[in-house]
Amino acid sequence: MIQLQRVTKKFDETTALRDIDLTIEEGEFVAIVGPSGCGKTTLLRLLAGFTSPTSGEIRMDETILANASKVVPPEKRDIGLVFQKFALWPHMTVAEQIAFPLKHHRFLHQKRAFSSMDAKVESMLQLVGLSGYEKRMPHELSGGQQQRVAIARALAASPQLLLMDEPLSSLDAALRIELRDEIQTIHRTLQPSVVYVTHDQSEALAMADKIVVMKDGHIEQMGDPTSIYYHPATPFVATFVGKANILNGVWRGEHFYPYGHPSFYWVVPDISDAFKEAGQCPIRPEQLHLKRSGEGLRGIVENVSFQGREMYYTVRVGEQRLTIISSAPQMARIEEEIVVEWEGISNVTSSNRDKEFED
Ligand code: ATP
Repeated sequence: MIQLQRVTKKFDETTALRDIDLTIEEGEFVAIVGPSGCGKTTLLRLLAGFTSPTSGEIRMDETILANASKVVPPEKRDIGLVFQKFALWPHMTVAEQIAFPLKHHRFLHQKRAFSSMDAKVESMLQLVGLSGYEKRMPHELSGGQQQRVAIARALAASPQLLLMDEPLSSLDAALRIELRDEIQTIHRTLQPSVVYVTHDQSEALAMADKIVVMKDGHIEQMGDPTSIYYHPATPFVATFVGKANILNGVWRGEHFYPYGHPSFYWVVPDISDAFKEAGQCPIRPEQLHLKRSGEGLRGIVENVSFQGREMYYTVRVGEQRLTIISSAPQMARIEEEIVVEWEGISNVTSSNRDKEFED
């Protein structure tokens, strides 16, 4: 288990990280997401031992890895690293790249001697789908293959912690999804703890046990993907992770009255105070459905766009607009009056709004 306690990192005038408290459990896959400059890479560099915190402490089990006065260097930590750029050694074959950390670890940790180096290299190559590539040089590999070798190299010595900094961002979209699945399989097979930095929130949602959403050097929210997605703590998290409609209106307890619709409300449980204080309500586009009549918020279809698997609708509700994503065939035309229903939530048309407000 790795623990960061009140970790702050300053560079002259810039505070890159502020009071970070974070626990990475054994075998846990933690994704770090956030906009450019929010401190993701700095956090990873602290975990790797490339730099030390200005204040606070990082521990692995009972051992102090780093504080303001001491830092255990990367080569003395039980970690594997994978970077955005493949970073293979140009003069080494694939087999030599993977064997290198094994030799280093045999020297460092006598207890973890590997019976047969060749067998270990072969099993790592099999794991990343590159059996038979032992003798290739890096320039003889595609980008995806190079990154597979980098992953095999990082995992060869069975590190406790695997640190990955945007490992898929240099690859094309199809390859990204293929390698994403492979990394998940590898994680399930070898079960290292993983800290995975990414710009791509869909990667984080698909892969992580825990997502840490960062903003301006602090943690805005952390939790499992479902709770981050369906119960974002702040408008920032709602719009950064996935698409979200943020409707303005008035909260009365769990009742949300969208502006311009005095006799309509949704009963929304589990909304964070940040939204209530801002008079806002987050709704995922796929949680909304269109129908011709019945209970729901009334609006006018402004735009319909076919996106292959899904239809995207823009619906004007008073002064505001909602995006609705539906996998059903097109069911509304531009300019049509329509009813928007929030699935799984009570959609209430109240005959007397004033009475509701007096209650
Ligand atoms: P990106 O997604 O663009 O890689 P990031 O979230 O990884 O961004 P960091 O690289 O951790 O962000 O940077 C956080 C802040 O710290 C930024 O304001 C950056 O300019 C600053 N910073 C990072 N490293 C240094 C350094 N060595 N010297 C001075 N400032 C730094």
